[in-house]
Amino acid sequence: MARGSDVRGGIDLGGTKIEAIVVDDSNHVLGASRQPTPTAGGPADVAQAMAVAMTLASSDAGVETAQLKGVGVGSPGVVDKQAGTVSQARNLPGWSGTFGLAAALSQLLGTEVRIGNDVQVAVNAEVELGAGRPYRSMLGVWWGTGVGGGVVIDGKLWLGRGAAGEIGHMVVKRGGALCGCGRRGCVEAYAGRASMESRARAQHKQGAKTDLFKIMERRGRTKLTSSIWAHALERDDPLATELIHRAVEALGAGIASAVNLLDVEAVVIGGGLGVRFGQPMVDRILAAMQPHLFRDDRPPAVHVAGLGDLGGAIGAALEAR
Ligand SMILES: [Zn+2]
Repeated sequence: MARGSDVRGGIDLGGTKIEAIVVDDSNHVLGASRQPTPTAGGPADVAQAMAVAMTLASSDAGVETAQLKGVGVGSPGVVDKQAGTVSQARNLPGWSGTFGLAAALSQLLGTEVRIGNDVQVAVNAEVELGAGRPYRSMLGVWWGTGVGGGVVIDGKLWLGRGAAGEIGHMVVKRGGALCGCGRRGCVEAYAGRASMESRARAQHKQGAKTDLFKIMERRGRTKLTSSIWAHALERDDPLATELIHRAVEALGAGIASAVNLLDVEAVVIGGGLGVRFGQPMVDRILAAMQPHLFRDDRPPAVHVAGLGDLGGAIGAALEAR
């Protein structure tokens, strides 16, 4: 392929799936591949699965991975961009320590690899290419396995001392549900896919009526993925309906509190669940925000992420420029 030197790779590393794409210099997607995230093993196994996904995306685009100008990765956990390492990625198997992901992947792919924070790269992509384009200030809310976020002020991502934007750990109920972070009452403890799943399992064990796990088994999955939740919701599954309502209420309170503090023009909702549920759910989140908004006469615009499912991978590819 003649344009080989202009193409870049992007990998969105999630708790459930690895999304790899190849883009041209205008960020058009030339090839893509999606692989399940390993559920056992350790960081080296995850890196191997990422390399497989990137290799498949490259062949889909008609290039070799070594021909890519570079590969960007959006990773969960604590990312050290300079060192190319990822630490404490709780939603990935055996990743409690620090792993040199950039070096390992670079070795496997034969090209330079840069690592960014998954939510930050996805929010940057929305600002540059997606639903955030018209705005100078916005809040990105990434609703998936966890609930991540990003704050954009004057057109730039506000990083604070490196950890800004953690909307998922806004406290919406003091002494409330236990969060994956070990604290209580965070938005994520109610709305994160992982938290909703443990709640669903516990309630199901106690006899709550639900088809969530039947759908999961029928699809040969081991986790309640976004599409399983969406499917159950479409069928008015009682437990799914109740848990999603609980999640929406928590998101509404948390996002409204952040809006009261920052008065941003827009809120962009992305992530696996956010994108899968789409605009109807985004409208429900806005309705749940309304009672908590201090300036309830002029709520911010609330949009679903414009780049959809591939936004994280597109954002990752921007890192490789
Ligand atoms: Zn938390």
